[in-house]
Amino acid sequence: MQKKLVMILLAAAVAMSTTFSLYAQGQREGRGGDDKKGAQRGEGKGDARGGQRGAAPPPPPITIKMVKPGVYMVVNGGGNSTVRVTDQGIILVDTKNLGNQFYNDLMAQIKTVSSQPVKYVFVTHVHQDHAGNIGKFVESGVQVITNEGLKKNLQTGGADGKGYTSNAGKPAEPNVTYTKSKKIKLDSATAVAYHFGRAPTGGDTVVYFPDVKVVCMGDEFVTLPNGPNADYPFGGSVLEFPKVIAQVLKLDFDTVIPGHGNDPMTKADLVAYQKKLDAIAKKAVELAKKGTPKEQIRQQIQSQTPEMGTWQMTGLVNDARLDMFYNEVKSAK
Ligand SMILES: [Zn+2]
Repeated sequence: MQKKLVMILLAAAVAMSTTFSLYAQGQREGRGGDDKKGAQRGEGKGDARGGQRGAAPPPPPITIKMVKPGVYMVVNGGGNSTVRVTDQGIILVDTKNLGNQFYNDLMAQIKTVSSQPVKYVFVTHVHQDHAGNIGKFVESGVQVITNEGLKKNLQTGGADGKGYTSNAGKPAEPNVTYTKSKKIKLDSATAVAYHFGRAPTGGDTVVYFPDVKVVCMGDEFVTLPNGPNADYPFGGSVLEFPKVIAQVLKLDFDTVIPGHGNDPMTKADLVAYQKKLDAIAKKAVELAKKGTPKEQIRQQIQSQTPEMGTWQMTGLVNDARLDMFYNEVKSAK
């Protein structure tokens, strides 16, 4: 009786383990390729963010979406990229986070909408989530065009004057720079890069496509709840920011690609955004004139500027940038 029971249990255990190992094998074989790729991708991003491996959920994948015929935006993996497709090649704005996997994913997404090669790249500012893969394009012989201020930021920017770098590494230098504006033509497309002044950094570019009425803003326009930020050690300025956006608004366009945020926006959205920045700048100068101390000024601006909505003054000007911000508003006329 007892022996029979043992035999039955043993048989059941063998059957279960066989079934399980067959199941596990099926899982491995069926999805092996994708799983491996997914794991590598996740690992790369974890490293780039400074060792969040295992803890954080995987970041959303890099994907492409159509904005208008011939115009696409590529979201996630850093700041948004814009892809302008023509029959003679592609014009790209911004290059994603620094790293081979980000570059490869970006190129793979572009390949899903066109087999044309990338001919020109514009980079909106020095931060690695936009400038990260300049080197990859320069190595491929592509013209990478930036404002001269971006190159200066790479060489001598920052509080220590040693030039921009990041946890992911230092972006490479562009091979073409311009001072105020730079126009290129490719097939039927025109692209004009403008530097209207200091906003998030001192080397910002907006890229305007007049024939399709689209403007790519980089981080001069973000649709994140906390709002934008001004990177003072790299030439950013809260007071100049609204003036720069006012210049952009003089262009003829109906569609705006934000530096962050998953959807294209309208000119009306940019008008509303400019008004917020203008209200903040005016309040900052007013409070500084009244002698509001440095330690209180961000909180005072926040509480006295209802236009700000969900934006955070501590995000617009972080602790490390407070001295430079305060000096600027105090000396404003
Ligand atoms: Zn960004």
